[in-house]
Amino acid sequence: MHPAQRLAGLTESVIREMTRLAQKHDALNLSQGFPDFDPPPKVLTAAAQALQSGNNQYAVTWGSARLRVALADKYMRYYGMAVDAETDITITCGVTEAIVAALLGVVDPGDRVIILEPAHENYLPGVLFAGGEPAWVTLSPPDFRLDEARLRAAFAQRPRAIIVNTPHNPTGRVFTRDELSLIGRLCVEYDTVAITDEIYEHIIYDGREHCPLATLPGMAQRTITTSGLSKTYAATGWRVGWVVACPRLSNAVRTVHDFLTICAPTPLQEAAAVALALPDSYYAELLRTYTARRDRMMTILEEAGFQAAPPEGAYYVMADFSALQPDVAMPPGSLSGQASRDVAFARWLTVERKVAVVPGSSFYHDPRLGQDLVRFAFPKRLETLAEAARRLGGLGAPNPGH
Ligand code: PLP
Repeated sequence: MHPAQRLAGLTESVIREMTRLAQKHDALNLSQGFPDFDPPPKVLTAAAQALQSGNNQYAVTWGSARLRVALADKYMRYYGMAVDAETDITITCGVTEAIVAALLGVVDPGDRVIILEPAHENYLPGVLFAGGEPAWVTLSPPDFRLDEARLRAAFAQRPRAIIVNTPHNPTGRVFTRDELSLIGRLCVEYDTVAITDEIYEHIIYDGREHCPLATLPGMAQRTITTSGLSKTYAATGWRVGWVVACPRLSNAVRTVHDFLTICAPTPLQEAAAVALALPDSYYAELLRTYTARRDRMMTILEEAGFQAAPPEGAYYVMADFSALQPDVAMPPGSLSGQASRDVAFARWLTVERKVAVVPGSSFYHDPRLGQDLVRFAFPKRLETLAEAARRLGGLGAPNPGH
């Protein structure tokens, strides 16, 4: 027995591997992007009540009517998007399922799909499951801006779809309206479907505003918008996300979703409707606390000798470790195995300093592009970050030769 050809080249998620290494060595887990705090108490209570009041069988496949109505209200209120709760919204098992269902719904074998890299590690598997071929567009440090020439070259391959994640994991970029407009114009020109991942839509700093690609000219009928509960409500284990798209695209996604998972967890969809009804003050407080965490994380990294730009959104920092003292940035034996510098450094930091991070190369199709980078995730209590500061303290003065 051998695994299917389409799985060739897919290895275990590096992020989950780092989580296991962190557990083994009792390290602080700043690798996987999950909060070390709970969802709001009101939402937890709603989940418990939903379990105890008969919401324990399959939900309607497209999702709880109450949640879909709450989402339609939210998309109108926040973004002015007219969304029909009956035909345009599908509740999925997280954004992870949403993206894979979208890809399986619109991509045929051999179709090209543009992925901006560094990229969230689920996109490539999703493209390969659909039999598609990735067309990579690299965002280069230090500012990770979208390069027009690279993007045009990828569109010239006549892609069926493009995946657009903003705010962006792992770089923290929030793509500007100009960058998004360029993507939109090219999608219209080449008849390409945009699949967006807007899971960090509410974690966005310094007065920036989230702009859904679907709101740009010509994009409402060709965008599959996805988002979910995981990050905004600190509920990554609940597995509730959603897809918003015009009926034609929604039907494609629903056909996959129906036979893949039937439905997202029923009681948690009911609790999600309560989360969606939280007042605006919840989002203001979310921003205040995440801004404090971001600022703390930046100070820690600067004091430890890393080089990094503050994220504009989401809750990650891509940090360059090459200016650290050579024996720190290049721990003994690090080049002896197959591992690239960043993998060796991430393992060393986890085992020796007990702070787990993700090697930068795991976000690129060419590992060399991430060899000086590691990703820190900071959706953590300030006490946890203070402990990280203690453990990263004295990593060494910057490399004088750098
Ligand atoms: N998309 C991005 C960009 C993410 O960073 C993550 C989680 O880290 C996900 C999707 C996963 O979302 P979900 O928990 O809704 O499946």
